[in-house]
Amino acid sequence: MSGELNTRRRAFLKIIGASPLAPTLLSRAAHAGTGLRRTTRLGNDLCEEIPSLCDLCFWRCGILAKVRDGRVLRIEGNPAHPRSRGRLCARGTAGRHVVGDTDRLLHPLRRVGERGEGKWKPISWDEALDLWASKTKEAIAKHGPGSIGMFSHGLSSRFINSFMLHLGDPNRSAPSFGQCRGPRDVGFQLTFGKGPGSPARHDMAHSQMIVLIGCHIGENIQTAQVAEFAEAIGRGARIVVADPRMSVAASKADSWLPIRPGTDTALLLAWIHVLLAEELYDTDYVDRHAFGLDQLRSAMARYTPGWAAEVTQIPAERIVAEARELGKRKPAVMIHCGRFSAWYGNDTQRSRAMAILTALLGAWGRPGGYYLPSKVQLGPAACPPAHGPMDQSVASGRHAFTHFGVAAQELVEASIGSKARIKQWILCAVNPIQSIPASKRTVEAMKAVDFITMLDVIPTDGALWADLILPEAAYLERFDDILAVTDHPHPFVALRQPVIPPPGEAKEPYWIVQQLAHRLGHDDCFTHADVTGYLDARLAPLGITVAELARKGIHDLDEQQPFLAPGQPHRFPTPSGRIELYSPTLQAKGYDPVPVFEPVEQPPAGWFRLVAGRSPYHSFGRTQNTKRLMEKEPDNLLWINAGVAKAKGLSSGDQVFLQNEDGFRTGPIPVWVTSAIRADVVYTVHGYGGRSPTLRLAYAKGVSDNALTSRFKADGPTGSTGLRVNFVQLVTQEGQEIPGDSEECRAQRAPLPEPPATAEPIAPPADAPADPEGAPPAGTPQGGGMFEVKPDEGC
Ligand code: SF4
Repeated sequence: MSGELNTRRRAFLKIIGASPLAPTLLSRAAHAGTGLRRTTRLGNDLCEEIPSLCDLCFWRCGILAKVRDGRVLRIEGNPAHPRSRGRLCARGTAGRHVVGDTDRLLHPLRRVGERGEGKWKPISWDEALDLWASKTKEAIAKHGPGSIGMFSHGLSSRFINSFMLHLGDPNRSAPSFGQCRGPRDVGFQLTFGKGPGSPARHDMAHSQMIVLIGCHIGENIQTAQVAEFAEAIGRGARIVVADPRMSVAASKADSWLPIRPGTDTALLLAWIHVLLAEELYDTDYVDRHAFGLDQLRSAMARYTPGWAAEVTQIPAERIVAEARELGKRKPAVMIHCGRFSAWYGNDTQRSRAMAILTALLGAWGRPGGYYLPSKVQLGPAACPPAHGPMDQSVASGRHAFTHFGVAAQELVEASIGSKARIKQWILCAVNPIQSIPASKRTVEAMKAVDFITMLDVIPTDGALWADLILPEAAYLERFDDILAVTDHPHPFVALRQPVIPPPGEAKEPYWIVQQLAHRLGHDDCFTHADVTGYLDARLAPLGITVAELARKGIHDLDEQQPFLAPGQPHRFPTPSGRIELYSPTLQAKGYDPVPVFEPVEQPPAGWFRLVAGRSPYHSFGRTQNTKRLMEKEPDNLLWINAGVAKAKGLSSGDQVFLQNEDGFRTGPIPVWVTSAIRADVVYTVHGYGGRSPTLRLAYAKGVSDNALTSRFKADGPTGSTGLRVNFVQLVTQEGQEIPGDSEECRAQRAPLPEPPATAEPIAPPADAPADPEGAPPAGTPQGGGMFEVKPDEGC
């Protein structure tokens, strides 16, 4: 393993830079300009330099686009951006190739072939908008606004979300919540009254210990985070990574815990057990701020390190040792909340366990832990809120914290069958085939509904079933809504503005939705003639104009208090006003008020758990049609354990096929043989295996993990779909299992031990709020109470 470890360390340094303190892939802007929009030089030639924001991940780094004659020549980092500070990753610098995609949507298109055939004809914008308006009117008149189901993603979807909410449509879903951040955000909000933020409010710059659980910093590159992580390593912070695979981050860690998949909550609960049993927690902080310590103590008594060792397959002494390290370094410890958190179904409870551990260590609102959010007041949104009652939701009611609209799978199911409530779909910058599990069912739903409208920049897989396709301007060609950044110690507002005109007839999202709203007679929405008028109104409370913001791209706001005042009381925005180790809100809704470990099914003999992750060169499935990025990583590999490979007679580069329990078989995928992964798991990068021939580079390149993800386990509170419950076999092209099993694999597949004896029922704290507020009823569209809603955040 050590030779391989060194290789992995070199790979990490290659990704983040020659030394941990000098991350070079995150290229700093070559000049230390003021960030003003100005004429500048590129080589010997003059060009214009325009600030804006990257859109290739949720980090939204500041960019400076060097532009001449309506062409982007280069993209550099904007040093004035408080978070990214001039750094960009490979995707950010390749942005001009993303917008220059030769398969861009250039004209409104109407389907002429069968659904799934991918045949359309260009139509005019007037025809397209009239058609969309008439279909929308028809759906509302016959079935109500709730008969329109919508899936959306990203900042550009804010306008259509605002309008559908105004219409009273509760049946909206965001894969970024349901397949990604839902459990994470809800678990932290239930504990602290606030989510961890997006990007999360991690103060890694001052952490003395960082714990990553299934979080792949270095592969999921986000500029400032990678730099801060590298700096933390350089400063000597202790890094602990629990992951069945030695990720790039794990290869740099002081301690890699190759945990049995699905048992992360057991590890967290055992750490909580040790902190409480050995009185290693921050007693002053907990006494001052926390609610329900006695209940937590009784519930955690059974989660001993000995039990957790058998469950997680991590030795008990290592579990105890890391708990003591946490206790020693508190409060400057970072239990990293990760991002993609829909894993095994009981994910909100895992997130709660992370939040509770953070609280016991006194790390929420303290340097080296999580800092507190700021507040920024903007002018009103593009549409006033719904003027009447919301239409009926299709939410089942099983998930009380869907947070935003309904769970994706419930929207899909409500679109199928003779009694289907959902009659039309809107897809806004979402590829449902790559993002929602059980894609066979998604396709059935898309075939079943009466009409599908898609707004996007490129014809992703979902386009094949769309009836009407509306070409959106790409991120370098449009204004989006003002981005108010409150999850940073120094709050600021940032502007995405066009640096070049859109190609063909592509249009800005504000204009597109405004045209629909006005055709439907909703003149109280999108009242400003154009988007800049609207943005001026948004900025008015801050006393700046869009023209002023456009010069620098950033406007810094007054610093607010990012940390708790030492030794002072603090009211947390929870029902009890304190950090809820015991959650009356969960209890009131029928969920466990204190986290409980739920065993997950283990793979049968001959099967492997499928785990997918990210690549530094791709943003899920959105960049596989970008030539520059595909040159870097043209397809995905399958990581398999060296012992397994030996038993099966496989070497790196050999091609295998993958077959899941429902009989779906992929095309060939090359294996990468390594001892840096457990024997019961195989791993690949998400986003490959495009199904739409209209994306010529992405089509059928690599293997789609989502196509293999035909099963999921819904998380109780959020309805998020746990995706890591799918097992695959390695087979030949004909579907014959490639024989061979290793001793290590057999041992790792061992059944989980019986759960520890059930705890006595735990009585709520005597001072529990009688009627805990904060949990919106299932399907509440734009959450109330303590729940903040950010539907347009990415994954
Ligand atoms: S981390 Fe990379 S992809 Fe994400 S916003 Fe920054 S430059 Fe863009």
